[in-house]
Amino acid sequence: MAKIVLNKSNYFHNLNTISEHIGSKEKIAVVLKDNAYGHGLVEIAKLANEFGIKHAVVRTIQEATKVEAYFNQILILADTNIKTYSHTFHIVINSLEDIEKLPENTNVHLKIDTGMHRNGISPKSLEKAIYGIHRRKLNLCGVMTHYRAADELSCDFFWQRSIFRDVKKEVKRICEKLLLTIPKFHSASSSALFRFKNCDDDLVRVGIAQYGYLETDIIFSNPELKPVMSLWAKKIATRDLKKNQKVGYGGIYLAKKDMKISTYDLGYGDGFFRLNGKEKYLTPKGYEILGRVSMDNISVNSTDEEICIFDDITKLAKMHNTIVYEITATLNPDIEKVIQ
Ligand SMILES: *Cc1c(COP(=O)(O)O)cnc(C)c1O
Repeated sequence: MAKIVLNKSNYFHNLNTISEHIGSKEKIAVVLKDNAYGHGLVEIAKLANEFGIKHAVVRTIQEATKVEAYFNQILILADTNIKTYSHTFHIVINSLEDIEKLPENTNVHLKIDTGMHRNGISPKSLEKAIYGIHRRKLNLCGVMTHYRAADELSCDFFWQRSIFRDVKKEVKRICEKLLLTIPKFHSASSSALFRFKNCDDDLVRVGIAQYGYLETDIIFSNPELKPVMSLWAKKIATRDLKKNQKVGYGGIYLAKKDMKISTYDLGYGDGFFRLNGKEKYLTPKGYEILGRVSMDNISVNSTDEEICIFDDITKLAKMHNTIVYEITATLNPDIEKVIQ
């Protein structure tokens, strides 16, 4: 099977860049949902821990359990089915109903809908929510929001930001009235955090930037980040292809001259999206993927035992008319991870 190589020095470079920007690594919460965007949940958790990161964000309790040992606090975005108490787990409240579901003493972060209209409670319901949290004896540890367009040059970001500023004031007022500790505030994901000059939140939730990408309008002066993941495939067989012979399903690739080609053990079954052979994809070494990608095979004009398929997916994402997140997150979790 193919393998994923994780470049540790690039990963640390990205975490350094982020912590320099926000002023401290204590403020970073690494987002590890969906198998760390395909990079390997436990592998990335270990590296983040080695770097000194204390906070993580995942989607489910199952994911949190796998990496519990590596962090002081793990925020769970969308799973309220908590059965055993964990000091480390912090559950996101996405609706007023969630407040009624959780057992006493659970650490919670209240999500506020400041304009994305996906998850979270309306700012109008703040008082009701915090009173509910207090009544149910949950620990309000955080109040958060999510921006819908931090990656675009539009006023949306500033509009949501100002709503969140008002939310902070209101939360402080209600908590003082109820004699509750003021919770931690967080709102920024990767693209938002590089738009802050002075980040006045307590935490930032960093997903894609730690993995080396930032899909923000180039108008923002983005830092230099380095891709962490590269994908490698092993040779299955080599053959001679004669002039005018065709390769693979549909015979889309036609040899213009005699050539040596090999098949490699990677395909869309591994989550490597199917190239249809109409656009030319070149590997970092300049080899061409010939014709269509099969379920478990690609044909390439190379005889190397092992080839690097990509070490930067920006181009590939464009070819597939998608975002880099989708390319990495779709890779089969069973692909072996090697840290270098
Ligand atoms: C996925 C996610 C993030 C991370 O987003 P990036 O753009 O990858 O940094 C942050 N916050 C929430 C709520 C998310 O769901």
